[in-house]
Amino acid sequence: MAYEYKWIKGREIVKMGKWLLLLLIVVVGGVAAYQYGWFGGDRDAPSAATQPATGGAGTPASSPSSSSSDQPSAGASAKPADDVQASASADGQDSPDDPAALPAWAVDNLPGDTIETKGEIAVVTNPASVHVLVNKKRNLPSDYIPEDLVVPDVPFSFSGDSPKKQMRKEAAAALEDLVAAAKQDGVTLKAVSGYRSYKTQQSLFDSYAKKDGIEAANRYSAHPGQSEHQTGLTMDISGASVNYQLTADLGKAKEGIWLAEHAAEYGFIIRYPEGKEDITGYTYEPWHIRYIGADAAEAVYESKLTFEQYFETLEVGAKR
Ligand SMILES: [Zn+2]
Repeated sequence: MAYEYKWIKGREIVKMGKWLLLLLIVVVGGVAAYQYGWFGGDRDAPSAATQPATGGAGTPASSPSSSSSDQPSAGASAKPADDVQASASADGQDSPDDPAALPAWAVDNLPGDTIETKGEIAVVTNPASVHVLVNKKRNLPSDYIPEDLVVPDVPFSFSGDSPKKQMRKEAAAALEDLVAAAKQDGVTLKAVSGYRSYKTQQSLFDSYAKKDGIEAANRYSAHPGQSEHQTGLTMDISGASVNYQLTADLGKAKEGIWLAEHAAEYGFIIRYPEGKEDITGYTYEPWHIRYIGADAAEAVYESKLTFEQYFETLEVGAKR
């Protein structure tokens, strides 16, 4: 009897041990499943299917699983919930009040933010930007020399080497495209004058002033530091119709007409348009094209404004 009793007890201990082991597996498994996020998404379908089998033991461990095995439907509804969250956070990114839509190219180049006074001279702080605004009120630093000057592969109106054949790399590539496109349309453009150093501009202006007087020279030539040619982003262009001269007549010639219509497609603007002398400070120059990048050039061209006026509209918009 004693033996039998002992044996039964032994069997019960084994049985209890089995239940404890099962309980342990369910608890550990449940915790692991919870930690690894198996209750979210598609993966909880198989785990939910296994739960009822162990859940039959009536263990407390089945409770976390039963909440997730609210089931295929719970798994299905989890996805739309994620979508709602995603779209909500996307909306959140859009909503912070951005200052009135400034084009990306203008953000760091607004005239009001890119000027400092040195002595009595207002000097631009972004001389190396493709979008720098240079005029009689906005000087380039006297020591500014672009670092990436190259000679564009286009025909020139003169032969031999000269510093004035140069442009900055990006502008040079754009000019090559522009001249090639004109050629396709049967219009031959030739480059006349590009980069000009501060010193060269200085001696040029001095010689004009000596010949015509300072006031007259002021209307057609730039003071050193005030010439766009120092940026390396400008080229004077002409054609055979006007004997490759830099003259207002170019505006009525086929070369000048093509240039005015298509320059913006290649990132250039006619910087000194007709009738805008009081704004740009210069008489009409149909030959002087300035590279400002395609996005900016198209915008300025469409607006029919000068570069100065276009920046003004952006600054007014940004303050609103
Ligand atoms: Zn020019």
